[in-house]
Amino acid sequence: MEKEEIWQSVLAQIQLMTSPANFATWFQNTKISSLENGRVVISVPNSFVKEWLQQKYNKTILKILRGLMPEVKELSYQIEKGGLKVVEKKDEEVSPPAQLTFQELEIDKKTNLNPKYNFSNFVVGSFNELAYAAAMAVVKNPGQVYNPFFVYGGVGLGKTHLLQAIGNEIVKNFPKKRVRYVPCEKFVSDVILSIKNHQIENLKSFYQNFDVLLIDDIQFLSGKEKTQEEFFYIFNTLYEKNRQIVISSDRPPKAIPALTERLRSRFEGGIITDISLPDFETRLAILRAKAEEKGVSFSDEILNYIATNIRKNIRELEGALNILVTYQKLNKKVPDFQTVKQLLKNLISPQNKVSSVKKIIKTVAEFYEISEKELLSNSRRKEYVKPRQIAMYLLREELKCSFPFIGRKFGGKDHTTAIHAYNKINEDLKRGGDLVEEIKEIKERIFS
Ligand code: ADP
Ligand code: MG
Repeated sequence: MEKEEIWQSVLAQIQLMTSPANFATWFQNTKISSLENGRVVISVPNSFVKEWLQQKYNKTILKILRGLMPEVKELSYQIEKGGLKVVEKKDEEVSPPAQLTFQELEIDKKTNLNPKYNFSNFVVGSFNELAYAAAMAVVKNPGQVYNPFFVYGGVGLGKTHLLQAIGNEIVKNFPKKRVRYVPCEKFVSDVILSIKNHQIENLKSFYQNFDVLLIDDIQFLSGKEKTQEEFFYIFNTLYEKNRQIVISSDRPPKAIPALTERLRSRFEGGIITDISLPDFETRLAILRAKAEEKGVSFSDEILNYIATNIRKNIRELEGALNILVTYQKLNKKVPDFQTVKQLLKNLISPQNKVSSVKKIIKTVAEFYEISEKELLSNSRRKEYVKPRQIAMYLLREELKCSFPFIGRKFGGKDHTTAIHAYNKINEDLKRGGDLVEEIKEIKERIFS
């Protein structure tokens, strides 16, 4: 594997831990300039970045590099021009610039859209199908059906991807339409700056010119009265001309604090859909799709492991996969299961993992509406036996508890009882039916 690829992989992981603004500030124009005998030199554009990386990111970078190449010993920084560049496409440009690009930074200047987000790589499942359906209607008839289209959901669940895919699709289908994507944070700072420079009218007419305005993370308007006022004005102008407005947020309009009533009611005037959490099957489907996109394949055991442990964030699912892909390229072989666990231990944080034996027992008891005492007892009553076997199964499956431990936990039973319970549930699961759903639901509760 090349230095470039290694650095891309490091960047991909760092990106998971930092805000887009920080990421762009500190990692633009950086690269690995040499890699010899475990010594890695990173070239940076100026002394400011050098100091910052040394102070704030050194440990992290080192840790990630070691995850990829255990032989890495030390890290140093060197000031140099060049390296990773922001690539802005110009219309007349014929060939792409020669320097290394990081996909995240490949942005079309006119629309502010990143071509990597489109519908062909957007997985649809029950968690996002309404949002997807609304998006489809919008791209077919921008400004005509759902206006505004307001989508909300938690971090890393595809809001930005969806907004950008809408933009890219409209550009493709209606090349004449002027489309603009803007993160709300950027909009807020532009408004503040242009008020200061007496340019606010220019800014307003700039935005009023678009046929499609996609504004991401609108919750940032919260408490910013002046910006809300200007946005209200832009919104109305666009709306009256049937221009499409698409808005994303981490929460519904009602829950955005310090938002003026008139804006809230505007946001509620079109369609509102949410993106919830993808279920296990969808997480697997996303992993499979992304692996295919990258031209790699991993065993079901590995994909299951990732999908089981990373539940709330698609960006992290992708991050886990990237780490494995890099390993595979570096070592020219698929990592085995133990290696996978080792590689992903930073990503699969303790709070993502099952917290404890206690939690499993409590959750199973609650699910079957029996007491913990009954669950752990020796009673052979049917309504206790099945939950008990399931709890034993989960302790083994999720926490890798030893069978003797499990036996002791449940009324001082022999380890063969625990083995029997584990095998029984395993067999029953293979047969399908209600049990599969029940265990899925229990696991969701254990992990949430
Ligand atoms: P948000 O804006 O909600 O925080 P993003 O849109 O940035 O989340 O998504 C995080 C990552 O997950 C991105 O790399 C994105 O491409 C990917 N992603 C999100 N949703 C999907 C999906 N439905 N199918 C495929 N990839 C997705
Ligand atoms: Mg986003």
